[in-house]
Amino acid sequence: MNEEKNYIEGLLGGIRTLCVGLKTSMREFFTKKITEQYPENRNELQMFERFRGSLTMPHNENNEHKCIACGLCQMACPNGSINVVSEMVETEDGKKKKQLVRYEYNLGCCMFCQLCTRACAHGAISFDQSFENAVFDRAKLVKVLNQPGSKVVEKKVVKKPEPAAAPAAEAKA
Ligand code: SF4
Ligand code: SF4
Repeated sequence: MNEEKNYIEGLLGGIRTLCVGLKTSMREFFTKKITEQYPENRNELQMFERFRGSLTMPHNENNEHKCIACGLCQMACPNGSINVVSEMVETEDGKKKKQLVRYEYNLGCCMFCQLCTRACAHGAISFDQSFENAVFDRAKLVKVLNQPGSKVVEKKVVKKPEPAAAPAAEAKA
């Protein structure tokens, strides 16, 4: 009699746990899926906003960038992934000015810490969301970020307005 009771209790317990498992399975079956079917969804794939793919130097429609070749990003980089090559040029008003020649970035040793972009006070570099960077030759991971023929964007000099002359009456008083 006791054996039969144990058997029935065990059977009911098994059915109960089976139902609990099925309930969870059915709930997950109807839950919205978040698994990315990569690479099938390559065209629609959206990376999350803060993803750091590869360092870039944005250029405007006039092939101008914001880099003044100060080298702060190179100094901030802990593993030498950045090499800023610059030269001194003479401006129209006879002043010496540093100018960017090549901005080399080694994606192969970059650890995406973002210290370089934080060090840049001019917002000249930023991370894009590219991630398919596999190559057979590591040398291809060294990229030149400034485009051929590009130059630094010219800052517009805003002249301060002349102080208004005090009226003659006020001056006498
Ligand atoms: S993200 Fe970090 S490692 Fe990569 S280039 Fe910038 S400072 Fe260097
Ligand atoms: S990217 Fe920014 S920090 Fe780096 S050299 Fe250019 S201006 Fe300086």
